[in-house]
Amino acid sequence: MEKTDIKSLTIEELSLQLKELGFKSFRAKQIYQWLHEKLVESFDEMTNLSLGDRERLKENYRLVALKPVQVLVSKIDGTRKYLFSLGDGNVIESVWMQYKHGNSVCISSQVGCRMGCRFCASTLDGLERNLLPSEMLDQIYRIQRDTGERVSNVVVMGSGEPLDNYDNLVRFIRILSGEGGLNISQRNITVSTCGIVPGIRRLTEEGLSITLALSLHAPNDQVRKTLMPIANAYPLAEVLSACHEYFEKTGRRLTFEYSLVKGVNDNLEEASQLARLLKGQQGHVNLIPVNPIKERDFVQSNHQAIQAFKNLLEKNGINVTIRREMGRDINGACGQLRKSYLDHSAT
Ligand code: SAH
Repeated sequence: MEKTDIKSLTIEELSLQLKELGFKSFRAKQIYQWLHEKLVESFDEMTNLSLGDRERLKENYRLVALKPVQVLVSKIDGTRKYLFSLGDGNVIESVWMQYKHGNSVCISSQVGCRMGCRFCASTLDGLERNLLPSEMLDQIYRIQRDTGERVSNVVVMGSGEPLDNYDNLVRFIRILSGEGGLNISQRNITVSTCGIVPGIRRLTEEGLSITLALSLHAPNDQVRKTLMPIANAYPLAEVLSACHEYFEKTGRRLTFEYSLVKGVNDNLEEASQLARLLKGQQGHVNLIPVNPIKERDFVQSNHQAIQAFKNLLEKNGINVTIRREMGRDINGACGQLRKSYLDHSAT
């Protein structure tokens, strides 16, 4: 029988299980603290437990700890890109970024992705599997251990569609923001989705106060369908109404991500259409100059076009930011590091 993944358990679940295994009642809190606050990689690091207790843990549980296979550090701004290997040999990537307001980690939620967005490298080989809560947490834990600096913000914007891995995502958020762990405020956690409407609706009822980011990328269904297959399943009217309900219920303003692709979604008519579309929505637009991937021939909009697009939105009363490119020298779009690693190791 496969051993239980101890790092994916909440403190309540762990307490219950340890009690059944005959551990003293105060041990659960200690063990939880070793896992989620001191961020250990093995049971042997739990030095205030007896050898017997450690053996008993090993007999019943497995401890998920990711191994860094590659770390790229930007000479420009210190951004660090990690390629981690999982227990089954799959690899995923995560990014650490330093901002004035603190350190932010961008994590993956799946190995690969099945959403098929045309400009995205993560989806080229489809979905391999979902990540466990422990595997999402450990991306942050390993990075905090490696840098020695506290992580204050987490964005679920790496490879994968978080709402396609819903239960593990919510469990991950509860452990990450809960007592006895890193205790990261839910307000500092952002989940980005391509717009799976039932997932957004479920999240609205979850009682969390995380920030939701919607990958919009087009001002109408017609253009959106050419970039994102998910647009065939959920029309924009439905997606935006679900987003509005999310705001109404949680009070959290949304982020609308819009990757600008030259000649595809970046003209001024599209900017004014976008402004009309977002009237009445509470949130802001984050413009992302598309990051070209070699498998597709999308081109980044030029600087003037991006600025003009931004100005027009602002003239229409929309809050806009242009995403700062972090770690330009080690970049590559989401999923590109993993992809080049896999292509390379296959030859
Ligand atoms: N599946 C989620 C989160 C992963 S991607 C989602 O769709 O939101 C995080 C953001 O990066 C999304 O807005 C995605 O559309 C965008 N993105 C992916 N590849 C990109 C690229 N090559 N250039 C610019 N943005 C990209």
